[in-house]
Amino acid sequence: RSARGNWHNRLRIGIMGGTFDPIHNGHLVAASEVSWVYDLDEVIFVPTGRPVFKLDKKVTNAEDRYLMTVIATASNPKFTVSRVDIDRPGITYTIDTLRDIRVQYPDAELFFITGADAVAEIMQWKDADKMWDLAHFVAVTRPGYSSPDGVRLPAGKVDTLEIPALAISSTDVRRRAEHGEPVWYLVPDGVVQYIGKHGLYR
Ligand code: ATP
Ligand code: MG
Repeated sequence: RSARGNWHNRLRIGIMGGTFDPIHNGHLVAASEVSWVYDLDEVIFVPTGRPVFKLDKKVTNAEDRYLMTVIATASNPKFTVSRVDIDRPGITYTIDTLRDIRVQYPDAELFFITGADAVAEIMQWKDADKMWDLAHFVAVTRPGYSSPDGVRLPAGKVDTLEIPALAISSTDVRRRAEHGEPVWYLVPDGVVQYIGKHGLYR
């Protein structure tokens, strides 16, 4: 029996993939809201290895991104972090993430959580046509990113969920850290301190 009093036969697991360079409060609010609305038992944050759409960009090493994700999620009993993507060699594809989590939770219902901007790329994802059988897809709104015109998604495969708007991006957090501007309250306190301690983004 779930927290909201509903009965579900199967475990309901959210998967929040991201570069998390660094993880910020927009990610956490999105995960929390999807968890609530979809009655999830757990949300697994999965930091990417080599993100396929960021091959031309410099990305902080995986261990730092992983540790910041652990720090940011540690206080929430429903949030966990998985190393499947950072431990798998090569470029990260969502289909592989879904298959790896499926092996760990053979009987669970999986919900892949993604931002409206990532939905624009969804159809270019490797084996996109095979993903729909592995998980439900929940696209969360994000200020400044409208759902793209001309991207046709398979009918009924991707839900859209409006979440409290937090105009935070990792890009902006990195830019602020680089210029010595404050990032307090954009990311959890422990992440502010981790960035400072390790001199990230300078
Ligand atoms: P970057 O600016 O480096 O691209 P980001 O802020 O977009 O970083 P990602 O790690 O790329 O963060 O995002 C992971 C997932 O979280 C994506 O699906 C993205 O759309 C979603 N997301 C990021 N920021 C927000 C936000 N403020 N509100 C809702 N969803 C978000
Ligand atoms: Mg992004």
